[in-house]
Amino acid sequence: MEGEKRPAPYEGLFADGHLVLWTLCSVLLPVFITFWCSLQRSRRQLHRRDIFRKSKHGWRDTDLFSHPTYCCVCAQHILQGAFCDCCGLRVDEGCLKKADKRFHCKEIMLKNDSKALDAMHHHWIRGNVPLCSYCVVCKQQCGSQPKLCDYRCIWCQKTVHDECMKNSLKNEQCDFGEFKNLIIPPSYLTSINQMRKDKKTDYAVLASKLGKQWTPLIILANSRSGTNMGEGLLGEFRILLNPVQVFDVTKTPPVKALQLCTLLPYYSARVLVCGGDGTVGWVLDAVDEMKIKGQEKYIPQVAVLPLGTGNDLSNTLGWGTGYAGEIPVAQVLRNVMEADGVKLDRWKVQVTNKGYYNLRKLKEFTMNNYFSVGPDALMALNFHAHREKAPSLFSSRILNKAVYLFYGTKDCLVQECKDLNKKVELELDGERVELPNLEGIIVLNIGYWGGGCRLWEGMGDETYPLARHDDGLLEVVGVYGSFHCAQIQVKLANPFRIGQAHTVRTN
Ligand SMILES: [Zn+2]
Ligand SMILES: [Zn+2]
Ligand SMILES: [Zn+2]
Ligand SMILES: [Zn+2]
Repeated sequence: MEGEKRPAPYEGLFADGHLVLWTLCSVLLPVFITFWCSLQRSRRQLHRRDIFRKSKHGWRDTDLFSHPTYCCVCAQHILQGAFCDCCGLRVDEGCLKKADKRFHCKEIMLKNDSKALDAMHHHWIRGNVPLCSYCVVCKQQCGSQPKLCDYRCIWCQKTVHDECMKNSLKNEQCDFGEFKNLIIPPSYLTSINQMRKDKKTDYAVLASKLGKQWTPLIILANSRSGTNMGEGLLGEFRILLNPVQVFDVTKTPPVKALQLCTLLPYYSARVLVCGGDGTVGWVLDAVDEMKIKGQEKYIPQVAVLPLGTGNDLSNTLGWGTGYAGEIPVAQVLRNVMEADGVKLDRWKVQVTNKGYYNLRKLKEFTMNNYFSVGPDALMALNFHAHREKAPSLFSSRILNKAVYLFYGTKDCLVQECKDLNKKVELELDGERVELPNLEGIIVLNIGYWGGGCRLWEGMGDETYPLARHDDGLLEVVGVYGSFHCAQIQVKLANPFRIGQAHTVRTN
């Protein structure tokens, strides 16, 4: 009997089973691997964050270093990892724990009280010296070899070759380098601490050791200003100065940060504000608060590094409209050292709200730039509401102007502040002023308005006394509508000049 051997029924089943098994494997395995990897990654991240939190360094993650970088522990060339934004150490992920244990960061205050003011040695760290730096010993270029080499002092920023590093240099006193007149030395804070314990307040004796030129600089930066440019700036200032004098105003409000001035000698402190007009106003308010507290002698001089767009106040004071990294941070510090002080008139604005049941609420705020009634205020409001929603759209200055113009013209069709002259009575220095058919009144303290246009001068075809920010006079102008506003901004029309006055009242 011949016949084909029929496959047993279970064999077919077995083959099917194989197929199912393989399919399951090929689907489940990648899923499992992905899951496992992400679990490992989040565990690693947690571990790293734990080190970041406990560390004395200011570690930050980066996906790509901007310069050729070598790990400070294993000396390997690395593309990503972490860096300290106080001392500048760079390390890969695997060596982070070792680096954290092995290397000290900038000490903002000396632990040892017995150390005198003048006994601080250089604090050298090896490798990753800035490009184009020169050796203090042989004056040749440093850090040009493709490996972890050469040293930099994290306080005075001096650099030296491996071969040129001698014991004498290791034991040399650090003079804090180029910016010594801006840096608060760690030993100063230690001494101040001791004096406070002994209830002495004569800091001038202490400061006299640091020389007459010493005008310590406090940095108040807004990390969210200028499309998050503030964040990078904070790090760069921490590297060049004492990290204790660098504040992020989103974490430490200006009122608190400015209390550092009370540990410095009278009239010596300076403040550099990095942020938009809003941040500047916030800091100036904090300065006003110091006056109220009776801390006049500690009030610092204020300088501004404007970030973002439309900074009319900074523009008026001659600090420019916006900084976008055109010059290195070290140059910014040099400019601050050379700068002279200017005075700014600040005005009190009182707004009376007619509340329900005839309750009148009096609100008071301080005006630095200008305040307005009518379409300009509306325009600025619309604009800021949108800026909050989509900040990335507003990163370019030119785009911002276009948006301003767009809002202006859009508002022109709506005409929300019609017949303002019939609703508002205006008094300049106590005298009633007759108004033409206006839609908006703008009161200015500073020369610039609406993102860099000089409103009072208009097209500049007529000669009017220039608007000044320190003459005790306010300039009052009227606009016929938001289209007129937009025209003035692009210098196609003049505003309606109502007058200059010491006090302005509107009813
Ligand atoms: Zn390493
Ligand atoms: Zn550090
Ligand atoms: Zn040094
Ligand atoms: Zn050298």
